[in-house]
Amino acid sequence: RPAADSAFLQGLNAEQRDAVLSTEGPLLVLAGAGTGKTRVLTTRIAHILTSRRARGGEILSVTFTNKAAREMKERIAHLVGATVEGMPWLGTFHSIGARILRRHAELVGLRSDFTILDTDDQIRLIKQLLEAENIDEKRWPARQFAGLLDGWKNRGLMPSDVVPAESAFFANGKAIKLYADYQQRLRDLNAADFGDLLLLCIDVFRQHPDVLAEYHRRFRYMLVDEYQDSNIAQYLWLRLLAQGKPASEANICVVGDDDQSIYGWRGAEVDNILRFEKDFPGAKVIRLERNYRSTANILAAASHLIANNESRLGKTLQTDGGVAGEKVGVTSVWDSEEEARQIGQEIEDLQRRGESLNSMAILVRASFQMREFEERFITLGLNYRVIGGPRFYERREIRDALAYLRLIANPTDDLAFERIVNVPKRGIGDTTIKVLFDTARHQKVPMVNAVRMLVETEELKPKQRSTLRGLVGQFDDWAERSRSVPHHELAQQVLDESGYTEMWQQDKSPDSPGRLENLKELVRSMEEFESLGGFLEHIALVMDRDSGEAEDAVSIMTLHSAKGLEFDTVFLPGWEEGLFPHQRALDESGRAGLEEERRLAYVGLTRAKRRLRLSVAQNRRIHGLWQAAIPSRFLDELPADVVEVKDTGSAYGGYGYGGRAANRFSTADPFDSLYETPGWQRAKAQQANRRSPGPTTIDGELVARSVDLGSGSAYRVGDTVVHLKFGSGVVVAIEGNKLSIDFEAGRKKVLDSFIRKG
Ligand code: ATP
Ligand code: MG
Repeated sequence: RPAADSAFLQGLNAEQRDAVLSTEGPLLVLAGAGTGKTRVLTTRIAHILTSRRARGGEILSVTFTNKAAREMKERIAHLVGATVEGMPWLGTFHSIGARILRRHAELVGLRSDFTILDTDDQIRLIKQLLEAENIDEKRWPARQFAGLLDGWKNRGLMPSDVVPAESAFFANGKAIKLYADYQQRLRDLNAADFGDLLLLCIDVFRQHPDVLAEYHRRFRYMLVDEYQDSNIAQYLWLRLLAQGKPASEANICVVGDDDQSIYGWRGAEVDNILRFEKDFPGAKVIRLERNYRSTANILAAASHLIANNESRLGKTLQTDGGVAGEKVGVTSVWDSEEEARQIGQEIEDLQRRGESLNSMAILVRASFQMREFEERFITLGLNYRVIGGPRFYERREIRDALAYLRLIANPTDDLAFERIVNVPKRGIGDTTIKVLFDTARHQKVPMVNAVRMLVETEELKPKQRSTLRGLVGQFDDWAERSRSVPHHELAQQVLDESGYTEMWQQDKSPDSPGRLENLKELVRSMEEFESLGGFLEHIALVMDRDSGEAEDAVSIMTLHSAKGLEFDTVFLPGWEEGLFPHQRALDESGRAGLEEERRLAYVGLTRAKRRLRLSVAQNRRIHGLWQAAIPSRFLDELPADVVEVKDTGSAYGGYGYGGRAANRFSTADPFDSLYETPGWQRAKAQQANRRSPGPTTIDGELVARSVDLGSGSAYRVGDTVVHLKFGSGVVVAIEGNKLSIDFEAGRKKVLDSFIRKG
């Protein structure tokens, strides 16, 4: 055996080495975060290759993301150097599924060059089918059907496998037929959707034993990372591929952590772990208990938190025996703006002390949280990258909304016009748009003017004429209103009146609630600008930024896309009830939803190697309303002795402090110092207020109501007040919860939740 083999085995502990060397027969590695599961897989591949048990092409290794696949390839290449030929089949379920399906496409009625449909195409196709069946799309939205399809495909069900009962609640039982029609339509188009990449593979394997046998001969070793997040279709696919040998001899190795299962909402089945031992009898189970990633304090925080979950397989996790490290920092800030400012500052401080930006990450619960950080980092000139999604202003819903606003500010913006003329759908098709375009070019006028001309003629059909006349009329109206209505309010009105908000409300795809949140965040962010023009100019500058990958950059991503990754310093902002745990998870899935949120928190905490910073804002805008936020219950679940509550050092004095949801620790609670601060008392008072509207006082001082009461303000004209940003001023007018105040900096309109009596 080549000497190289022992070299890379030396760095492993006994259990890890056992997992690497147990190449024959089924193996389950069940272990907590940072215990080296991924490292075991990589080393195992290297070992199989260098010991000549198999060539690259005979190994199948499944990862959760393409990024993880790339990293594993690099690590394997590094371990084995140029000594072996051929790389393993290494990629996500989908990418490997596509590769296999292309080789046998003709067996399922496709050609090998079939197209993979994106979501938009898929929806368009479903709409056509609904129309053909005379199904009212308003009543039975295409997105809802797409969700059904997704669910069935995740469970490995072909049209003939779906039981009628499951079909009953869509379009009066027509769903199964629609599913079959949909598959037929895809075949006609020589296309497959994402779910098909595995489902059709499964079909090929089942219908064509000779093909399956070919893969049995080919894949002598199979490995799967993040197994806890596999769904039924993925499980079936794996099991079919592993059947080449008696189950007790299959060389399949899966690694996972039930505590990190965070895709239940997408059909992942933690039970797959339990099923593994049943389906592969005699499977060897190895537990890794030493965490090599995080300091003792970080690990204590994570272990303590996850212990609150009831449904667990149960594992022990110990540190490497190394340093306790810094305590877990918990900072309470006034709002998300201060949160971004404070984190930006800490990043700059760390950078000055020689830490690289690449070693730092901000992990958010919801993508709308990213905007504040992006803005702040642009202001500071800090390099950042958004992983697993576009930057905030590049998101589709944001670009659409901006197109409306641009067109109000500048009616000659033809690109904006083209973008939204049929969004939401108004029955203005490509043909009509071409007529508009040609007219505009011919007459040398902007498209909006071309519309004005055309609606006076007979060139368009009456229906389109009236639609376009209505649209142009709306824009005239909005432009008129823009002179009197504050621009952020106008923006909200435009989104609502144009039908754009409704378009996403009707949309049943899993990402539409997130899009609606992003739109709210956009409107909110506009408040900070003097005018619509000022806002749009800012956006133009922000968007113009060179999007080339910076060498050294802070990573911003959602907790979901952070799985498997690690960073020296991790910031976890927004630890507030309703945001984290997310209200939607609680509403839709109750206790199970809460436990999945807690696993997500566990994933977040365990990404950190050396430094962990949590923050909680005292005020957050949720569903368009400022609310006094309640600190996340997850904060209560961290052990007091590893937590350090940080002073934000903010210019807002006492407001920089915060509080906690409940006082579990009677003595020596690091949060004790917080309870008496004005910020905490205020938050409490506002909560009390929401339950029983009415003026509330703290130490004889009247406290502003939370705005969602919507019943006027506790201030009077002439009152002297203190605002967080603008300092002291005098109230000159009151309009609901909005006050006009003369500050030193001039007259400003502010929300009452941002001021207190001076
Ligand atoms: P996760 O559950 O988060 O995916 P994991 O179990 O896959 O974590 P790895 O990412 O493989 O853990 O390892 C975590 C860190 O510990 C990595 O930096 C890895 O290089 C290091 N590590 C793993 N095993 C050892 C070891 N025996 N000696 C030193 N470092 C190790
Ligand atoms: Mg891993």
